[in-house]
Amino acid sequence: MNTGFLSDERFLLHDTGKSHPERPARMRSVLDHIREFSWFETLLPITAETCDEKWLTEVHDMKLVQRARETCANGGGQLDSPDVQVSTKSFDTALLAAGGVMRIADAVMSGQVNNGFALVRPPGHHAERSEAMGFCLFNNVAIATRYLQKQYGLDKILIVDWDVHHGNGTQHIFEQDPSVLYVSLHQYPHYPGTGASSETGVGSGVGATLNCPMHAGSGDNEYEQAFREVILPFAYEFKPDAVVISAGFDAHQTDPLGDINLSTDFYGWMTTRLLEVADSSSEGRLISVLEGGYNLKGLSESVAKHISVLLDDSAAI
Ligand SMILES: [Zn+2]
Repeated sequence: MNTGFLSDERFLLHDTGKSHPERPARMRSVLDHIREFSWFETLLPITAETCDEKWLTEVHDMKLVQRARETCANGGGQLDSPDVQVSTKSFDTALLAAGGVMRIADAVMSGQVNNGFALVRPPGHHAERSEAMGFCLFNNVAIATRYLQKQYGLDKILIVDWDVHHGNGTQHIFEQDPSVLYVSLHQYPHYPGTGASSETGVGSGVGATLNCPMHAGSGDNEYEQAFREVILPFAYEFKPDAVVISAGFDAHQTDPLGDINLSTDFYGWMTTRLLEVADSSSEGRLISVLEGGYNLKGLSESVAKHISVLLDDSAAI
């Protein structure tokens, strides 16, 4: 079996302006780094396609879609929040990012690959149903999750979000839905302010949201403890039909936007643990999607570690 890899030069066209942390150089740096490895050629390239409005509105209000389209058509600027800066091409780029993740889902579901990584921008996990926020326009992971359920009939999806920031958008989109288990490890208190351990879901979704707030200064040991004692038992009990990772790399020790000290190797450790979950109940189906990560070296090396572990697992099947 194989690992799918999706990226697209057009993701560079989302121009956030001068000195914005979520910049095109992030993607260029990762691509330059991972192309150096002999394994890069063994990845199956997946081609991005624009996300159809039908799938976008599964998780977003049409008003957000229209506002994003108009803001970009009018030359760009701020969308909903000062940290979401868009250019004329950002709307198309965001649709391509969401649609790209869906193509990885297609490749996984057709059995072409058993897992895949989407190197996309803009990121998605802060995007709420009706509001762009935190560098995010549309919630790529949420859209792919609904796509897996509605297009392919999968029942239960596990989303693990290891970005240093809490994925408020993803939590809120699924908090009433017991079929999607949203698990987040994040620095707390920190942006965006949500993600207390008391937030466990709403209504029939109670019990399907699991927040693991981590103190500033936490590192590999604290994260490993959270995985072993809380997250993994919960994940195995849930028996997901697919695993989706909101893979931000801003909890890395070098990252300027977080105060968590994960090592590069620890991203490999977390990847292995989630592959084991996917192997146990999901026939290995795992889709990983880039969120944050703002130190170019830390981001590039951590993504390389993550993909190399995905590939090792594929090679073993
Ligand atoms: Zn982040």
